[in-house]
Amino acid sequence: MDGDSSSTLAGGISPPAHAQGCVLGLDVGGTGMKGAVLDHGMRPLETLRRPTPRADGPLAVVDAIADTLLTLNAMASERALPVHHAGVVVPGIVDDDLRQAVWSANIGWRDLPLATLLEKRTGLRVALGHDVRAGGLAEHALGAARGARNVLFVAIGTGIAAALVCDGKPISSGGYAGELGHVVVESGGRPCACGSAGCLETVASATAVAAAYTARAGRTVTGAADVAALAVQGDPVARAVWQQAADGLADALATAATLLAPETIVLGGGLAEAGELLLAPLRAGLEERLTFQRRPSLVRAELGDWAGCLGAGLVGWRAAGHNPTSQLTGVPAP
Ligand SMILES: [Zn+2]
Repeated sequence: MDGDSSSTLAGGISPPAHAQGCVLGLDVGGTGMKGAVLDHGMRPLETLRRPTPRADGPLAVVDAIADTLLTLNAMASERALPVHHAGVVVPGIVDDDLRQAVWSANIGWRDLPLATLLEKRTGLRVALGHDVRAGGLAEHALGAARGARNVLFVAIGTGIAAALVCDGKPISSGGYAGELGHVVVESGGRPCACGSAGCLETVASATAVAAAYTARAGRTVTGAADVAALAVQGDPVARAVWQQAADGLADALATAATLLAPETIVLGGGLAEAGELLLAPLRAGLEERLTFQRRPSLVRAELGDWAGCLGAGLVGWRAAGHNPTSQLTGVPAP
């Protein structure tokens, strides 16, 4: 834990209140939760991981979130740190301003006033956010997109979602912005869980890549990482499936580049762990598709699976009236 910054302030000026406390950041995923106690410089002082009891229903998940916040709060108390706010980020459609978890297919809640419920349960002040937007916020403030004003962060895992930063501001649009996974890239393609067909998610999510390989090769793989490894070994079916995913992503990113003109596109989530195996064909695909548009630089996310939790911390600090971004020079992921 770093020292109290009040010691650096001369002339009897009181240090800002935030310098003496912390926030709690909690990223709630479909399978697990990651939490942290974060100081005003976004250093993680304590971290924890817990399972999300999704199978027990949405109310059990709310209970588990409240319990986890209380555990983090106890960790902060042991360090004698006042907690200014808790930032909680969840998947699905999230209206940050209305403080509602509008919808999540994954967890099963609908129009849930989650921030208010958690405040009643914990006595903490709670700010609500969206997991992928929070991840984008963290990559923008602390990670691969530091210093850029226009950023597209794309998380490619079981699903695909994006976070947008335009002219330095995160874009939410009532929680509906950033659904890149449901841009149609194959007209008349496979049915998507959203009710449409041929969405990017049906071609390029980690789930889709593994399923496409299994269907075409007639042999089951455990995940997209297996397909990536087979592609590196020269397996022709794996290479074709991988290229198809890269083509779908390039189509969607070219559309995004035309509409939003990001300087930096950050790729995160499980599929991005393939590194250059994904980035190289995507760069080539974008180069083929773009003509006059600003060429975005394509980079891999830096914060790994802690991006959402760190983003939750940023959501908490901003709700507490403190923006740590301006003073950060890079914070290591926990
Ligand atoms: Zn869809």
